Amino acid sequence: MDCLFCTTAGSSRGRTANERSVRTSYTGKKRRRGCLMTADIQLTNVLVYRNGSFQPGTVTVENGLITSVTEANGASPKKLLVPGGIDIHVHFNEPGRTDWEGIANGSKALAAGGMTAFADMPLNSSPPTATAERVLEKKRLFKEKSRIHGSCWGALLPGHVDDLEAMKAAGIIGVKAFMSPSGLDEFASAGEELLLEGMTRMAELDLILAVHAESPAVLQRYQNECGSYREFAASRPPEAEREAVSSLLSYAAKTGCAVHICHVTCAEALEEIRRAKRHGVHVTAETCPHYLFFTGTEAETKGTLAKCAPPIRGKRHQDALWEALLDGTLDLVSSDHSPAPPAMKDVPFRDAWGGIAGGQHTWHVLLTEGKRRGIAVETMVPWVTRAPAERFRLENPVEIAPGNPADMALLDPDVEWTMTREDARHRHPESIYTGARFTGRVEKTWVHGEEIAGAGVPSV
Ligand SMILES: [Zn+2]
Repeated sequence: MDCLFCTTAGSSRGRTANERSVRTSYTGKKRRRGCLMTADIQLTNVLVYRNGSFQPGTVTVENGLITSVTEANGASPKKLLVPGGIDIHVHFNEPGRTDWEGIANGSKALAAGGMTAFADMPLNSSPPTATAERVLEKKRLFKEKSRIHGSCWGALLPGHVDDLEAMKAAGIIGVKAFMSPSGLDEFASAGEELLLEGMTRMAELDLILAVHAESPAVLQRYQNECGSYREFAASRPPEAEREAVSSLLSYAAKTGCAVHICHVTCAEALEEIRRAKRHGVHVTAETCPHYLFFTGTEAETKGTLAKCAPPIRGKRHQDALWEALLDGTLDLVSSDHSPAPPAMKDVPFRDAWGGIAGGQHTWHVLLTEGKRRGIAVETMVPWVTRAPAERFRLENPVEIAPGNPADMALLDPDVEWTMTREDARHRHPESIYTGARFTGRVEKTWVHGEEIAGAGVPSV
């Protein structure tokens, strides 16, 4: 795999960190490995994620690789060392709309949330990523600007079905389509005809189609003024998701194309997915932290910061999402990190841009809500590591094990803290998470053994 970390800054923060229980010793000199500066590290007194569970241990890293994991009997550490997370659904909006977020800021926010890899969606970068040239341009930008591993999605757009093969050769992890309007004229939605044509080609090419699944016909029926969150949510009911997921799954069964359903929010869509999985349809699905953390009632108080599509729904749906993660109906959690400048949010509700800047908070949400719901952290680790890696054939390490690159994050599962604007690492600090109360946080993130500067939120 290409090394994408040419700009990863050297860091001395680990040498002076005032840690309560974990000892991070930088045991050797920093050295240059390819284009990357690495440091030798020994982490003692941590709970190490390996083979599906946490064991007390000591982890040694040399030259960017984990060289040993030794058990520490009798120790009672509290902090958790997990493989770096993989967020397969982000919108960094570069090139073209870098003022909305950008790769440098977006990757920094993800690293602050324990993520060491991402896959960038083909919008809202401009032009959309619909040709091999644009894929290669994005990969070049990742190499230049990202602090963590980057890959990207291609677009299924009218007139671009013939680009799928070359985009695959250029290294996309899959292809994204919208069944309803995307909000951007340059990213047209895909109707039945284009979906069937594209999916037939993708089945031949062994490409996965990821879909924003809301039925345009149902959305049309429920149109309203969208003057408030409540009205907006009413204009995008669960029925729109259920209807679109149902159609999509029938196309998947017909074409043999593997599909991935993005940002599932409701119990009705989950039932469709559950049934399709039982019938052997090649489908996976994700949900996002904001649907797992906020309810519709809370979203109403957050105004345009909470605007996203599909909308944040009620408690019944939130409980169904957690249940679906536990029973395997949902495969993974990704952030759908989709920031926009304040000027696009600070307008009447109906005109506000939909999208939530949440890439920093996947682990914070999982730790907080998981604890409240009695879900062990080891149950949740695969949702952001092994599941996305296996589904999208990514090479990122999913175990803390000797020989693996030291892409990893240190979590403090017990600390209680409040998110502030100052803690935000994305370009525009205000988000739906400002003021959120969390239990558990990401303390440090390493890529190839190098601690990412600015990762971890210092204030508690
Ligand atoms: Zn998205």
